[in-house]
Amino acid sequence: RAKKNLSDNHEYYAKSIESQTTWRLDMIRQLRSDFINRKLQLWYQPQVDLVSEKVVGMEGLLRWPDGEGGYISPAVFIPLAEYSGLIVDIGQWVLEESCRKLKELKEAGYDNLRVAVNISIPQFRDRHFVEKVKNALIASDCDPSLLELEITESVVMDEPQIVIDALTTLKEYGVGIAIDDFGTGFSSMSYLQKLPLDRLKVDRSFVKDIQPGKSAVLAETIVTLGNKLGLLTIAEGVEKREQASYMIKLGCVEAQGYLYAKPMPFEALMSYLHDHSTTE
Ligand code: C2E
Ligand code: MG
Ligand code: MG
Ligand code: MG
Repeated sequence: RAKKNLSDNHEYYAKSIESQTTWRLDMIRQLRSDFINRKLQLWYQPQVDLVSEKVVGMEGLLRWPDGEGGYISPAVFIPLAEYSGLIVDIGQWVLEESCRKLKELKEAGYDNLRVAVNISIPQFRDRHFVEKVKNALIASDCDPSLLELEITESVVMDEPQIVIDALTTLKEYGVGIAIDDFGTGFSSMSYLQKLPLDRLKVDRSFVKDIQPGKSAVLAETIVTLGNKLGLLTIAEGVEKREQASYMIKLGCVEAQGYLYAKPMPFEALMSYLHDHSTTE
């Protein structure tokens, strides 16, 4: 019922604060129940090497079926999951599921593909977060370097010390760290050097700026910054050939976007990998 109202949520938002609150509570209740009933899905979007276009990894992205053949956008339900605290358990499932899939990939002969997972601030506030990540890796017998954690600038700014400490420990353990949607948040440059980062994800909005015959100053500046800090860069939201070639010229290393593939269920990812074989 609450989920159905999403389609006309503009109207819904125009209503009173009270009905907004009711809507939020309904959504949270539904999310909790669907999560408990294992209705949430983790889809995967391939990440490729820009030059060779070989798959190097994938990002796990949550999908919440709306019960009518569609999906509710993570942009809508992730904030609710964070607000309600549900994200701690959901995020834990995402971590464990990703590690199980890493194992399946390895068993299928794809032993060098990494999986990236988005982490929210309430997960860092959980005292057992570091331990939980390690346990997920141990339980599925995965190489820590094949797991990458994605955090946004706002996660760092919220709790700098907690986040830096947790990530430093995990990085020592071998886990990869990427900064997501880079350039869209307000980050203090000093944190860029305090965080044990491996990769910088150039936000889709800067890639979108790339148009034929025009320069994309922000995309260029971000790739340069990443390279100067010794980080690998990955372009998000690459939809057009010219965006890919421009990013190559800037010195960006990897890409993710509809030009290559949309997020898809694991079974579909397996056939995608089969068709775009990563082994020479
Ligand atoms: P994100 O981590 O920045 O993920 C990239 C988003 O860009 C995904 O949206 C993906 O489907 C979309 N995308 C990828 N390539 C293209 C493209 O070429 N064009 C366009 N227009 N879009 C593209 P999605 O799946 O809707 O996820 C939205 C956000 O929700 C994610 O942004 C992430 O912040 C959050 N999210 C998703 N799954 C999780 C999760 O498991 N945990 C947490 N904490 N957040 C999640
Ligand atoms: Mg991400
Ligand atoms: Mg992103
Ligand atoms: Mg995003």
